[in-house]
Amino acid sequence: MTGDGVLIVGGGLAGLRCAQTLRKKGFEGTIRMVCQEPWAPYDRPPLSKAYLTDRTDSIDVSLKPDHWYMENEIELILGRSATELQVDSKRVVLDDSTTLSFDQLLIASGSAARSLPALEGFENVHSLRNLADARRLGQAIGDGGHLAVIGSGFIGQEVAASALGLGGQVTIIEAMSTPLAHILGGEVGQLIGQLHTERGINLLTDAKVESARGNGRVEELKLADGRRVACETVVVGIGVLPSTEWLQGSGLELDGIITDTGARTRIPGIFAAGDLTRSFDPRSSNFRRSEHWDSAVRQGRAAALSMLNEPVPPPGLPSFWSDQHGSRIQYVGHAELADRAEISTETDESGLSVRYLHADRLVAALAIDEPRVIAAAARAIEQTDGSNTEEERSDHELQSKS
Ligand SMILES: Cc1cc2nc3c(=O)[nH]c(=O)nc-3n(C[C@H](O)[C@H](O)[C@H](O)COP(=O)(O)OP(=O)(O)OC[C@H]3O[C@@H](n4cnc5c(N)ncnc54)[C@H](O)[C@@H]3O)c2cc1C
Repeated sequence: MTGDGVLIVGGGLAGLRCAQTLRKKGFEGTIRMVCQEPWAPYDRPPLSKAYLTDRTDSIDVSLKPDHWYMENEIELILGRSATELQVDSKRVVLDDSTTLSFDQLLIASGSAARSLPALEGFENVHSLRNLADARRLGQAIGDGGHLAVIGSGFIGQEVAASALGLGGQVTIIEAMSTPLAHILGGEVGQLIGQLHTERGINLLTDAKVESARGNGRVEELKLADGRRVACETVVVGIGVLPSTEWLQGSGLELDGIITDTGARTRIPGIFAAGDLTRSFDPRSSNFRRSEHWDSAVRQGRAAALSMLNEPVPPPGLPSFWSDQHGSRIQYVGHAELADRAEISTETDESGLSVRYLHADRLVAALAIDEPRVIAAAARAIEQTDGSNTEEERSDHELQSKS
């Protein structure tokens, strides 16, 4: 150790959880966080939900109060971006040409929304990744009118539900024939699609946006099959790309940094956590991207433990949640390992639960407004493969409060 301590690039959830764990475990060295945005780490899930529809400015999304950083001696370098990693000299260069040396580095610069080239340059086209995006989009959908959401992933669906809740007219445009079929299976994807159509959202499937008509603002989207969608506001929700441009030339993988279960990259002393990783998953023996809250928390903590040479618990079950139209969708496990899905709609009028099975063994579960189903499924899956730690179980509980 040279005294340069730990440098964290990216002031998001993964970065914060690493810093927090280091201090909790008694690390006394320097911790600095380079934050591209002008504010301290905040929670992103509310941005497509309550924050987007809030008209009272009363929702606080910060993950920690300002005094917490002072008390824990964590230096936030706000409004600055890393532009280069110099591996041999263990330095990171920032956009104002400052160089910061480190003993250990956590790369946690997250991901950025994919754009649609045909829609670039139009002022009423939005993506949703950060607070500034949410403020801008909140104003646009608050004015009502017709919103076109391109992509029916979870963020697109949440934005659609929020806009509908504000009284707007909404069309979702999805290139696949069923929303989320590649993640949850066709039958479940169809049921989730119905959540929207039953409430009056127009869901267009097998629909690819080809071009837009309008002068500075999109007035109409033209689909590849000739269909047209008139709109006042457009949201592009077609997934994310890892924010790794600044790592060019470093030798690290730009399409998702490969890490082991301890968040170690292939370069000693350099760790990566959160949305930009391709982390090893022992259950599927694969390196997987996971752009969910629970992975960022787990990997941020794993990075801190690895930096301290402490044992890292095996990764728990992947999980996520999504809030739409006043309902909570929750998921746990590995649906991609399943050979069939059992769907039950009988438990409650609005509730739905799905058990994903592989050779009759439960491997994943999804439930709408059935939190107990998810908790029981997580326990059952854990019992068969002994995974989640106590700490990870408490994260599942925290998630449901986020
Ligand atoms: C609108 C929205 C809603 C979501 N809802 C849910 C949900 O309901 N359930 C769920 O499970 N997950 C949800 N997620 C996903 C979850 O929030 C992310 O997986 C999590 O925030 C990832 O954390 P991270 O630390 O990897 O990245 P981020 O939280 O994205 O933080 C990365 C930070 O690094 C900064 N940065 C980028 N490049 C640089 C650079 N060169 N130098 C310095 N800083 C840089 C970025 O500006 C950003 O502030 C949602 C995400 C969004 C955007």
